[in-house]
Amino acid sequence: MTKDFDVVIIGGGPAGAVAARELAKNGRRVALLDKQKERSRQRIGESLPPAARPLLRRLGLLELMNCDAHRPAFANFSSWGHGALDVHDFLQDPNGHGWHLDRVRFDADLVKAALDQGVVLITREVSRVEEKELEFVVSISGGESLKARWLIDASGRSAAFARKLGAVRVRDDRLMAIYAWVQPSSRDRDARTLIETCADGWWYSSRLPDSSRLFSLHTDRALVKEGLDGKWLESLRGTRHLKSLVPRKFSPELHVVEAGGSRLSQFGGKRWLAAGDAALAFDPLSSQGLFNALYSGMKVSELILKELAGEISTEEVVEQYSSRLEEIRAIYLARQTLYYGSEKRWEDSQFWNEQNRNLKAVAI
Ligand SMILES: Cc1cc2nc3c(=O)[nH]c(=O)nc-3n(C[C@H](O)[C@H](O)[C@H](O)COP(=O)(O)OP(=O)(O)OC[C@H]3O[C@@H](n4cnc5c(N)ncnc54)[C@H](O)[C@@H]3O)c2cc1C
Repeated sequence: MTKDFDVVIIGGGPAGAVAARELAKNGRRVALLDKQKERSRQRIGESLPPAARPLLRRLGLLELMNCDAHRPAFANFSSWGHGALDVHDFLQDPNGHGWHLDRVRFDADLVKAALDQGVVLITREVSRVEEKELEFVVSISGGESLKARWLIDASGRSAAFARKLGAVRVRDDRLMAIYAWVQPSSRDRDARTLIETCADGWWYSSRLPDSSRLFSLHTDRALVKEGLDGKWLESLRGTRHLKSLVPRKFSPELHVVEAGGSRLSQFGGKRWLAAGDAALAFDPLSSQGLFNALYSGMKVSELILKELAGEISTEEVVEQYSSRLEEIRAIYLARQTLYYGSEKRWEDSQFWNEQNRNLKAVAI
């Protein structure tokens, strides 16, 4: 059986859910496809900066933050470039505080907000995408297919469909995160978000709304094996500021994930666009991933709505979207180069050498 939609969105993370909701709110028929049946697994990526507040307000989603699941975040403390801690106090930010999210709840609430506007959620695997003259035909497991004029790839870093449609994912560097959620010690009352560099990369730690503590080391891909073989804990215990937060009895379950910045060689093509991490992924240092997922989800929907209303051409959609994403990417790279370049204590280490060299190469 074939069902007709205006837009099929592949990926029901923050980018896909926001795009779906905006399109459906404006009367469009939208299918949101995700291969995950349930969003119950804890995932990394929980820090939402204050700048998200006006964006959530504009999307009519700020009320999702009025619940006990998320905690306000008032400041970041970072030891970067020198041993002391610098404070970035959100109370001086015109947008107020940021948040530490319960990511499972946040992502689920965004999908629910989309469903409330009439979006059809389909939790099945996509088996094939065919590009026809005027539409895409998306075949899903179970023998059904979906027809739509527009396709949005919001499948996260895998950019699963944009790559099938010819785009290439270009990585800035080989940054990986090795992380663990731990039960904090009873003495740990520290609510700060802490960042601290070390010879092999940089550490991030914060308390999460469920009261667990996250420790995450961001390091080079070549150092992951050593990290898993015991260096992770040795490095954490060797930090100046985080070490006091490490529980005495501690055998962490380590997870590894790719964490570096990346981009697609093209952000869209004939009646398709990529949104969120699928288009542009960010080093977690920038805390920009979720913001960009929400923003790009909104932006793709705005432009597709204009095209569907006959106000702009399909080519203009891709041009306008791509030039906005290029601007975002240029600002991001300039900041990254500045930030990584300001840590000069371990210039001989493999991590800092690679990181600075790669970012400079991309920024030129
Ligand atoms: C170590 C680390 C730390 C981070 N910390 C932060 C942070 O503190 N703050 C922040 O703002 N950002 C952070 N991020 C980034 C943030 O998590 C992402 O930017 C954000 O999740 C992107 O949202 P998205 O909707 O684009 O993609 P995702 O959230 O990745 O969603 C993609 C969806 O697509 C689905 N999917 C994938 N493939 C298919 C397929 N073939 N068919 C159907 N569905 C598919 C997946 O199931 C998933 O639901 C961090 C990232 C990393 C790696």
